Amino acid sequence: MPLRSALFSQRSLVLTVIALLGAGFLATSFLSYYASRTSIRDNIINTELPLTSDTVYSEIQKDLVRPVLISSMMSRDTFLRDWVVAGERDPERMTRYLKEVMTHYGTYTAFFVSNNSLTYYQAKGVLKKVSTDEPRDAWYFRVRDMSTPYEINVDVDMANQDNLTFFINYKVYDYQDNFIGAAGVGLTVDSVIKLIDTYQQRYQRSVYFVDTDGRVVLTGAEGGPQGARVGQALSELESMKDLMTKLPKPQSGSYEYSTQGQGHFLNVRFIPELNWYLFVDKREGSALNEIRQSLYLNLLICLIITLIVLALLNRVIKRYQTRIEAQATLDSLSGLPNRRGFDLLAVQAMQEAQREPKSLMAMLLDLDHFKRLNDTYGHLAGDHVLAGFARDLESCLRQSDIVCRWGGEEFIVLLKDTDSTNGLKIAEKIRQLIELQRYLYEGQVLQVTVSIGLTALQPGDTLHNLLSRADQAMYRAKQTGRNRTCTEMPHSSYE
Ligand code: GH3
Ligand code: MG
Ligand code: MG
Repeated sequence: MPLRSALFSQRSLVLTVIALLGAGFLATSFLSYYASRTSIRDNIINTELPLTSDTVYSEIQKDLVRPVLISSMMSRDTFLRDWVVAGERDPERMTRYLKEVMTHYGTYTAFFVSNNSLTYYQAKGVLKKVSTDEPRDAWYFRVRDMSTPYEINVDVDMANQDNLTFFINYKVYDYQDNFIGAAGVGLTVDSVIKLIDTYQQRYQRSVYFVDTDGRVVLTGAEGGPQGARVGQALSELESMKDLMTKLPKPQSGSYEYSTQGQGHFLNVRFIPELNWYLFVDKREGSALNEIRQSLYLNLLICLIITLIVLALLNRVIKRYQTRIEAQATLDSLSGLPNRRGFDLLAVQAMQEAQREPKSLMAMLLDLDHFKRLNDTYGHLAGDHVLAGFARDLESCLRQSDIVCRWGGEEFIVLLKDTDSTNGLKIAEKIRQLIELQRYLYEGQVLQVTVSIGLTALQPGDTLHNLLSRADQAMYRAKQTGRNRTCTEMPHSSYE
């Protein structure tokens, strides 16, 4: 195969393997990532957030719905109404009544404000008269004028400021439906706030309440979304812009929005008893980080496997290539370089010798009467002798010398850095060794001799010139009786 197309097919094999492995790995990694992502999102939207919402709702019911019921009961209480209609005589009775409500139901406070006398009654006694001039009494006049039967008022300005207190302010009517005052209880919502904080910290989700106008009304200790305080409208928050486009007014349901490049899942639930919405919000990042990390780990493993496969493939290809190259330049019978291998090595050796300059001897060896040996003992016996001869020839040479099987029973040797005297010595050493050598093949003793032609590299010599002279010398050796070394030595060699 031509070198270019071999290289091309090698490159296309590597590229195909990378493409196949890469596509396979990427497809499986991303498929499993998206599958887990979808199931995690479904789980958050359909299970996790609604569950949190349920738990907070049931807690809020315990904490807030109960006082609403108590207050409602107070507003319909016949004793209270009779006592007011009868002219608010003996305030002790009202105080006792309020104390009973407070201790029996375990509320923070119980109160009644009469519309007739504007007196504020408490469990401890008469507190004061409410007045339109007093900002702290504004709540009463608001309740008096409102159309709904009650309101829930979060008062953060109490004597005990740590405790956020919810007042349920119920309107009280006489039997002719005339407004006669406001009654109700106050209650701390510590347990709800603690629950909100637990959820926020443990499950990285944000829990808060919003009224129908979209204002934050109850949050954990650290505030609402992005630290929003009670009273702030969600629409005022920069970070809620995306949500506001999807949910301009609070409405129950599941939503997804993003803020600061971060996806959010939101569950909104209406709490009719409070006329509030419960918001449970979870950042996508915290939920999906783990599977994103496992995607990166997956991709890293895939990359490492691809690199290992490539390294192995490369090694196999290289080894295969070297073997093919070796096979192409080696003679299989003798294990010596063949003509092709010799050409590569010889050109290099000649260039080196001419550049330095250094002496170099070329030797052509041809076995004598080899045809006869073949005819007498058979071709396989001849092969055996050829292999043995190659071994013996090599044993007389240095590592740096170049030897090759030129073809048939002819061999060529280039002796590097060797002058004609030494060249002749080596040639004779070879010739004598072969003459004495016996090759055993299938019980027969085989013997062979060799004729050697020797010449030295001349300035300006080509490989062809050099080998022609060696051939002439060898021819002379044959002509003059074989089993001998003849030289062809012009005088201008590098000696
Ligand atoms: P000379 O002394 O003149 O060189 O005589 P020769 O018989 O060696 O010369 P010739 O060139 O006529 O014959 C060479 C023989 O070598 C002929 C061929 O059958 C044999 N030969 C060439 N290659 C191989 C080989 O690979 N194996 C065997 N067994 N014989 C081979
Ligand atoms: Mg021959
Ligand atoms: Mg021969």
